[in-house]
Amino acid sequence: MGNVLNGTELSKQMRDMVAEMCCQFELKYGHPVGLAIIQVGDNPSATSYVKNNLRLCKEVGIAANLYKMSAKSTQEEIIAQIEQLNDDDKVSGILLQLPLPAGLDIQLISSKIKPTKDVDGINPVSAGNLFSGFPAFAPCTPSGVLELIKSTHTDILGKHAVIVGASNIVGKPLAMLLLREEATVTVCNDKTKNLAEICKQADILISACGQAEMIDSSYVKEGAIVIDVGINFKDKKLCGDVKYDDVLPVASYITPVPGGVGPMTVTMLMFNTYAAAVESKESK
Ligand code: NDP
Repeated sequence: MGNVLNGTELSKQMRDMVAEMCCQFELKYGHPVGLAIIQVGDNPSATSYVKNNLRLCKEVGIAANLYKMSAKSTQEEIIAQIEQLNDDDKVSGILLQLPLPAGLDIQLISSKIKPTKDVDGINPVSAGNLFSGFPAFAPCTPSGVLELIKSTHTDILGKHAVIVGASNIVGKPLAMLLLREEATVTVCNDKTKNLAEICKQADILISACGQAEMIDSSYVKEGAIVIDVGINFKDKKLCGDVKYDDVLPVASYITPVPGGVGPMTVTMLMFNTYAAAVESKESK
């Protein structure tokens, strides 16, 4: 029977650490760690995510401010807002809340966030630095996945990690993070043939494809670590990509949905924001 990897508990422990570090930062520099969140439009899930982030940042002592922009904002207006925040010394990190309204060029807009403030690693320069092994902020969700895997005290080196999903914000950066840990990494997408067979070879299986309960026990090797990034709704109920009850007896560790990867994402955002704040002081 698998152990449940409780992301809520791990993120709580990590947030206590961040709170202590943010407190020390404020004592030393006379102002709090600052995060700017830009939200364009009123996407309901983005609004609830932003609300949660603002509340949790406040709890750890990060001064998080929301820059809410109309859905009709032009690219130039959003870029002007980013540039103003790039130049603001009290702002250590900038989070551009996704999704953006249709018609806006996310590549262009995200490329304007200063890489040293790009705490969710969405600027293509950050992605390139991560790819090349240079210092960079990795996107928060894959960073949280890595922390969850590390919390099992499994030696990642030499393990076969299979990632189902190849997006720019989850699958690809996660592959880079796991390569950095010297895992052997396979990344699958919608066109992958024999997906179940490939997944069954994984010592560490991560699903981030957004297909409700697609991964059942036939995809999982006995004793594998299974991380479920998916957030889906089935019969109006929240579920992951993994058929939890079916996989639990086969896996050595498994993350639940909710309460697995989700809470880690915001915690990594706080960690990155704190790190950006320290870096900006130390590089002066
Ligand atoms: P995207 O839609 O951008 O990417 C999905 C990826 O999965 C694509 O690479 C796609 O392949 C692949 N895929 C889709 N269907 C299949 C399939 N049947 N078999 C194999 N691969 C498949 O999604 P995101 O990366 O943004 O998000 C993925 C999931 O993670 C979603 O459920 C999302 O809600 C969740 N999520 C959770 C977060 C959290 O904090 N817990 C944060 C971010 C995302 P192809 O490239 O061929 O299209």
